[in-house]
Amino acid sequence: MSREQLVVQRARKSFQTGKTKLLEHRIHHLRNLLRFVTERRKDIAESVKKDLGKSEHGTELFETLGLEGEIKLAIDKLAEWAAPRPVEKSLLTISDEVFVHPEPLGVVLIIGAWNYPWAVTLQPLVGAIAAGNAAVIKPSEVSCHSAKVMEELLPQYLDKDLYPVVTGGVPETQELLKQRFDHVFYTGSSTVGKLVMEAAARNLTPVTLELGGKSPCYIDKNCDITVACRRITWGKFVNCGQTCIAPDYILCEPSIRSRVLEEIKNCIKEFYTDDPKTFEDYGRIINKQHFKRIMALMEGSAVAIGGDSDESQCYIAPTVLKDVTGESKVMKEEIFGPLLPIITVSGVEEAIQFINEREKALVIYVFSHDNKLIKRVIAETSSGALLANDCLVHFTVSSLPFGGVGNSGMGCYHGRYSFDQLSHLRSCLIKQLKLEGVNSMRYPPHTAKKLSW
Ligand code: NAD
Repeated sequence: MSREQLVVQRARKSFQTGKTKLLEHRIHHLRNLLRFVTERRKDIAESVKKDLGKSEHGTELFETLGLEGEIKLAIDKLAEWAAPRPVEKSLLTISDEVFVHPEPLGVVLIIGAWNYPWAVTLQPLVGAIAAGNAAVIKPSEVSCHSAKVMEELLPQYLDKDLYPVVTGGVPETQELLKQRFDHVFYTGSSTVGKLVMEAAARNLTPVTLELGGKSPCYIDKNCDITVACRRITWGKFVNCGQTCIAPDYILCEPSIRSRVLEEIKNCIKEFYTDDPKTFEDYGRIINKQHFKRIMALMEGSAVAIGGDSDESQCYIAPTVLKDVTGESKVMKEEIFGPLLPIITVSGVEEAIQFINEREKALVIYVFSHDNKLIKRVIAETSSGALLANDCLVHFTVSSLPFGGVGNSGMGCYHGRYSFDQLSHLRSCLIKQLKLEGVNSMRYPPHTAKKLSW
């Protein structure tokens, strides 16, 4: 029996004892998870520093703060989320009990990605624990330091059988995917997402796919361009552009292009100094393979800002590309790195057309003073989310479902959405064994007389 088989078997056996159905059990483990995140803050930050060159405060801001918020919310709201939910009654059910009863699904497989190795792996875990599931946690092998710390330290805080951490690369993940789960929660690329869904289909296992894609960013000329560019520069270059919801490329009219370039240039200097390479808040590309992939994306486009790189350190400067068209190499795949192409369009009409000709994105960004224009983009496009006049921050709003649509994913999480996503919302109808007379119409013989009653 493989290690993966054994781990899943143990998790299922432990789930079958029924202990995760108790809310006290879930609260206890959520509190332990919170204790883990607070007590092990330094270990977490060090692992991310080794993986992505991120500063301690950067990790706190982008990984652990949000995670802590999600855990606290789940602890606070669990009784409400898990309670039976009465639904509207009809004449036929007026004297019955009609409600939705959330129940755990069973054993969930959580497969994490490397770019925010703690947030994207442990936030789904919050939902899994809150909903009363067992969960097998598979951190990404690419962020190997974070995976190692997770494997070593998390079992000191959580039940080892119910919430095991399994490390390893593609073969281990594939072995895990051969096992029967009750839900697979995957974060990563669309290409691997398809493989995950295919494997899950063999057992009719439902999936949540948190994928990526090219998130467009339209800057209207009726806009505070200085503020817009500050927010875009931040959203793009944080974590060296290795953010699933980073604005992938800018669309704007030719008349504002040089102003946009100028403002972004100033912001890069303000945020990361003249020498981002030596500045502690500017990280690194995760590995050489991604470094080479990102460098190759620049071919055929002109560098307007930045462009420096150092392969030995996996460093690529914050870079803005001009003279880019929809056919350029950099527009053929999700960039997932610190390159920001600017494409000119004649106005919002053409921007919408450009967006709609491509796969559905995880987010569409719009910067404008004109609320009508923003509403028009909402009405005429589709994406996982739409954020106007800012970048990334919708991820931190627990009352909004976070997820993609089409090529950017399926299903969603955060706050109550995580709980619902990893629960079965069971329909319950409790009738009384009286008032049998009203049922006569449905019993044979089916006569016209009965129907006219
Ligand atoms: P990755 O290479 O770490 O892969 C993610 C997971 O898939 C890992 O745990 C890995 O073990 C597993 N995996 C990889 N290849 C596999 C295969 N052939 N079979 C089975 N399992 C396999 O991460 P990545 O895919 O490079 O992640 C980057 C992508 O993730 C980007 O597209 C990004 O936009 C997306 N992402 C999305 C979100 C979101 O919330 N929507 C968050 C973070 C990242």
